[in-house]
Amino acid sequence: MKWNQEAEDAIKKVPFFVRKKVIGRIEKEAAIEGKTIITMVEVNTTRARFVSGMDSEIKGYQADTCFGQSGCPNRIVMSEMLLKKIEDLFEKEDILGFLRKSVPGSLKFHHEFRTSVSECPNACSQPQIKDIGILGASLPMISDIPCTACGACEEVCKENAILIHAEEKKAVIDFQLCVKCGKCITVCPTGTIAEEKKGFRIQLGGKLGRHPRLASEIPGLFNEDEVLEVVRKCIDFYKKNSTEGKRFAEIYQDPGFLNADDRDR
Ligand code: SF4
Ligand code: SF4
Ligand code: SF4
Repeated sequence: MKWNQEAEDAIKKVPFFVRKKVIGRIEKEAAIEGKTIITMVEVNTTRARFVSGMDSEIKGYQADTCFGQSGCPNRIVMSEMLLKKIEDLFEKEDILGFLRKSVPGSLKFHHEFRTSVSECPNACSQPQIKDIGILGASLPMISDIPCTACGACEEVCKENAILIHAEEKKAVIDFQLCVKCGKCITVCPTGTIAEEKKGFRIQLGGKLGRHPRLASEIPGLFNEDEVLEVVRKCIDFYKKNSTEGKRFAEIYQDPGFLNADDRDR
């Protein structure tokens, strides 16, 4: 739906963690009324309804994804099913009920448990500042197929993680620098660089606010079931240790509560 400039400027002032929700609500309510363009009238009408009914808008968690499914060429994984299962887990674990019991006073959006999935390492849904951030990843490997030293992989890698030894006709990947974007796999014309594994990276404990911190990554590449198991353990840890509405990111120190299996993959 089209927005006029004034409405676009106004929506940018809405706190980022509810902006997506507010935009969706404004467009939905405008569509119901047959509007095709969003102006300040639609923004103010919805904003008044949203603020007066804020308590009923809070569901205890936020689960977002990036815009990969709208056709982004960088997309490595499809996250719709995973996100749905994560939401089901939050509902089953009754995060809202837990927050209602533990938060003194009224619940606010900033109390909600936040997770987001980005479908590639570009991280457009900001997983680094979420309690649980999940990123689609494609791990490259050097196969037995001879390299022609064409240089395409070295050129496409924005991390400078690939070095071509032209005389030996050999590509070497530095896995300390590699972010598992899979671009080198796509451009390699010979198949010398192949995909070893596709999955998800997981980052825990990110937040903004008065004491911001970036999430730290737990090593490994996880499949969907493994991600869900980590999310379940994070919720368990959170419910056992959070008091007075403290966010997971405030109480998370290290991944000690995860099994050795999860850490040493
Ligand atoms: S995170 Fe990656 S897949 Fe998702 S929208 Fe951004 S660039 Fe596209
Ligand atoms: S997967 Fe991405 S970051 Fe890693 S080596 Fe290939 S192009 Fe570079
Ligand atoms: S793109 Fe493939 S063939 Fe070309 S240098 Fe890299 S590994 Fe070798």
